[in-house]
Amino acid sequence: MPAKVDMDKIVSLCKRRGFIFPSSEIYGGLASCWDYGPMGVELKRNVKEAWWKTMVQDREDVVGLDTSIMMHPGVWAASGHIDSFTDPLVECKSCHLRWRADAVEGKKCPQCGGELTEPRMFNLMFKTFMGPVEGEGSIVYLRPETAQGIFVNFENVVTTSRKKLPLGIAQIGKSFRNEITPGNFIFRTREFEHMEVEYFVKPGTDEKWLDYWVKERFDWYVRLGIKKENLRLRQHGKDELAHYAKDCYDIEYLFPMGWSELEGIANRGDFDLTQHAKCSGKELSYRDAEGGEKYVPYVIEPSAGVDRSLLAFIIDAYDEEEVEAEKRTVLHLNPSLAPIKVAVLPLSRNEKLTPLAKEVFKRLCPNFMTDYDDSQSIGRRYRRQDEIGTPFCVTIDFESSEDKQVTIRERDSLAQIRVSIEGLEKVIEAKLKGEAFDASTLWATREK
Ligand code: ATP
Repeated sequence: MPAKVDMDKIVSLCKRRGFIFPSSEIYGGLASCWDYGPMGVELKRNVKEAWWKTMVQDREDVVGLDTSIMMHPGVWAASGHIDSFTDPLVECKSCHLRWRADAVEGKKCPQCGGELTEPRMFNLMFKTFMGPVEGEGSIVYLRPETAQGIFVNFENVVTTSRKKLPLGIAQIGKSFRNEITPGNFIFRTREFEHMEVEYFVKPGTDEKWLDYWVKERFDWYVRLGIKKENLRLRQHGKDELAHYAKDCYDIEYLFPMGWSELEGIANRGDFDLTQHAKCSGKELSYRDAEGGEKYVPYVIEPSAGVDRSLLAFIIDAYDEEEVEAEKRTVLHLNPSLAPIKVAVLPLSRNEKLTPLAKEVFKRLCPNFMTDYDDSQSIGRRYRRQDEIGTPFCVTIDFESSEDKQVTIRERDSLAQIRVSIEGLEKVIEAKLKGEAFDASTLWATREK
């Protein structure tokens, strides 16, 4: 099934409207690295905040953590990353391009048709040196996942949080993978952000909790506006499971290049705690307060990518519509994700309008991410706000200083209501929370 939007259109909108720029662009860019611009950084913060709210704030059984990117190298030996975090790599004997063997069909180079080498295993971890001496003893790795920082702190968190199992530990942070074939914009990059929970449960209850988390995570994307028909679940085949996994589901999204992984939810069994206990010599088990039973917990891991989710949110929200015989591009983003919640737009840059418009801006900006724009025609300013997904525009016109009222325009329905400036923030807050936008109130309010 072809997706409705080309990736090129998304890349171009992201550049044009300040969501995402190529990294080091003035030097010609750096492959697979991207920078988030003023709109992108807001959207990214909102994605992370929405995740944190659902996964930590709204729950009694999950706490947060923020661990360092560089860790003791023993961590990666224990976790299996030094031996097994590899992809099979083949190289073209003619043009020397390198490919992930499982991404190439047949034995010919997809670029030039040249002969490919036999696959060899390539470790995806970035290696660097800690301290001033470069040598075997100073090798450290940039973490390829945030999960291991959680496992090695299991004991610290359980004893200090005074929580019982089942208990989740959540972390958002940068991860690094020296991917052989990055690409598709921010879908696969070498530096990205993970949002992960390690959910520790009693062995035997793990399958139930895996089902629970698969459903929870699927519903999270739907609640934030992703269309159900663009999401699907895929269980990993036995031959596909990672070395640590007992079972795993991918939530896949219909990206422009086809169905691809958005998030993985794995049953990691007791692999990680057992390995770290063995390699560190520290016991990592849990004693049930009631039964007194001691066991090594099993772990369910919902692991999502911030950047990849953000890309899916933009693609799913993207639309081109005909409005009053004009084409408009609009991002129908869920208001909680929209970078700007409300834009203050004086009808024109006129000295009669500016002071009141600035006053309205000052009133709103402590409460919401607010934009102020008085350049160009009002129509063009609406188009710009539509393209960045701003749910509400507040227009100040020549009547506003008389009646102390402004017009709010809603992004999706284009309905407009007239409300008094006094209490404007309350109206916007209610609308952002989903209160119906009823255009009939326009006239009701005016008549008062
Ligand atoms: P893929 O097979 O797509 O490379 P993976 O199965 O290795 O991904 P996981 O280790 O399960 O990925 O990581 C969980 C999530 O982290 C992925 O579903 C994705 O959203 C994100 N992610 C993983 N690798 C990358 C990457 N290189 N760039 C951007 N996001 C990534």
